[in-house]
Amino acid sequence: MSSPELKIQNLAVAFSTPTGKLVAVNDISFHLNPGETLALVGESGCGKTVTALSILRLLPEPPAEILSGKIIFDGRDLLSLHAKALQDLRGRSISMIFQDPMTCLNPVLTVGEQIAETLLRHTTMDRREAMQKSIDLLSRVELPSPQEKLRYYPHQLSGGMRQRVLIAMALACTPKVLIADEPTTALDVLTQAQIINLLGNLKKETGMSILIITHDMGVVAETAERVLVMYAGEIIESGPTDALLKNPFHPYTKSLIASIPKSGAAKKPGARLEEISGNMPSLDQRPSGCPFHPRCSWAMETCKTQNPQLRKVEAQRQVSCHLELGSL
Ligand code: SF4
Repeated sequence: MSSPELKIQNLAVAFSTPTGKLVAVNDISFHLNPGETLALVGESGCGKTVTALSILRLLPEPPAEILSGKIIFDGRDLLSLHAKALQDLRGRSISMIFQDPMTCLNPVLTVGEQIAETLLRHTTMDRREAMQKSIDLLSRVELPSPQEKLRYYPHQLSGGMRQRVLIAMALACTPKVLIADEPTTALDVLTQAQIINLLGNLKKETGMSILIITHDMGVVAETAERVLVMYAGEIIESGPTDALLKNPFHPYTKSLIASIPKSGAAKKPGARLEEISGNMPSLDQRPSGCPFHPRCSWAMETCKTQNPQLRKVEAQRQVSCHLELGSL
């Protein structure tokens, strides 16, 4: 088996606040295989975006602080790289796309200027070559009339078109890893499906690995080969997508899946994680023991004091819960 494209080991991230340090990501480890799509799923505030931003050191430090861990890419620990080396790597070897493309695009530059800027920064192309390549990239992300769209400003495009532009920018230097943070959340259902298809096709074409951050189990079912479920800054279950969706072990994962609308809606982007009773605890109100215990129908006395460890339960499957498998 080939070695992972990206390996996160014991990552812990905290934020400094007037009342002390609050841990947002608590000692998580995972890897992304070459050519794989891995989904990091959970409700808002579970730490998934903090994890994604930490990989590229995009969190402002302070208030953020990486407490421990390693992020291994291409044989190097990204957490020990200097700012210049990180800057070279971002957008060239590892790219990221976000939920709201409007906030990532410069409103006063045309689409062509913005894609060309990425190419000029990371390649030896001259301006004319960069503009030509920008047209190719816009065609690859299936933007209609790419030559004409090159001259458009972001506000002249729809949300879906802007996300395509952002994907084109992310792919400009053929990265090995694409991190997609809620890439379809701001889009209507039809456009969501188109963007998901596009990402799948581009992955096949380029062989890149994708880490997709989502709260949407429909997106998980459509895109990912493997899933990591996060809760209160920890990975509480992981496994191959089909097996995990069919037979979840952790009560939280069960609730997430049960909350998906029935009649095959789980397979459609837009099926959201809703209707789980209670809320994700805020960083300053993390419960003792298993952080899910105030919301868990199966909670026992032990759960209130002891946080279960993530343990292997089947080939490629892990879960952190005090319950014996099959007792739910
Ligand atoms: Fe529920 Fe206890 Fe398992 Fe946590 S450890 S998920 S509280 S049964």
